[in-house]
Amino acid sequence: MTYSLNTTKDYVQDAINLKTYPLNDNDKILLAYSKDKGLIRLVAKGVKKTKSKLASYIESLVANKLFCKSGRSLDIISSATSLDTFKNIRNDIVKLIFSMYLSEIVINFGVEKDPNSSQIYDLLFKALKQIANSTSKSDLLLVGLRFQLKIMEISGFDLDFYFCVGCGKPIEDMNNAYYSYNQHGMICYKCKLSNLSQTMLINKKIVDFLNTLKKSQFNENTYYDKMANEKICKKCFLFLYKYIEFYSNKKFKTIQTLEEIL
Ligand SMILES: [Zn+2]
Repeated sequence: MTYSLNTTKDYVQDAINLKTYPLNDNDKILLAYSKDKGLIRLVAKGVKKTKSKLASYIESLVANKLFCKSGRSLDIISSATSLDTFKNIRNDIVKLIFSMYLSEIVINFGVEKDPNSSQIYDLLFKALKQIANSTSKSDLLLVGLRFQLKIMEISGFDLDFYFCVGCGKPIEDMNNAYYSYNQHGMICYKCKLSNLSQTMLINKKIVDFLNTLKKSQFNENTYYDKMANEKICKKCFLFLYKYIEFYSNKKFKTIQTLEEIL
């Protein structure tokens, strides 16, 4: 679709579609995450009609360059060109559910006029690209781990592996450190003894593994990418999910299905 910018009220933005809502008989509202403005809601006119050219561009989990114009309450999409459809995500139910979970995290933590918008946009774009290209469950879990660690760091909820949330002291024995499911953080061995909730042993190797993932790129093949087995990746993925869930003000819809298929 081609379009030229006619007035000062017209603008262009790169955005990844997250979901749509019905607005009326003909139109939908698109919720997307844009590189410059964070979470955005736009009206997609006429997309319920069979002949709509715009309809294919507002599908969830695709990235577009959106040509927009100012509207009264919500801005309106005039036209769109595709940046990436992440096609292989839609051919595979596990990849699709996994991607939906990442988009839910962005919906839950993203805000309008987000000062971190370009970082979060790039993170989601790269994660979707990597999911589309992945060939195994371990690949998917590694994307999920990197994404969870990085988005929490960008959003200011970085998980501290080195201080105990029970006593507040530095954890001295990193081979005897635990993630506490009711205190939502790392605890030392002493605090674990008085902690009645479920805990997961996180030894130094796992901390090194997660720190390496956090600092590396999605397509980087680190020592840990080669060595990490599916069981450890899944355990880490689920405890990070619990950590994210605690800081999220909305419930995740995809996690139950994700737990069943992982
Ligand atoms: Zn402690």
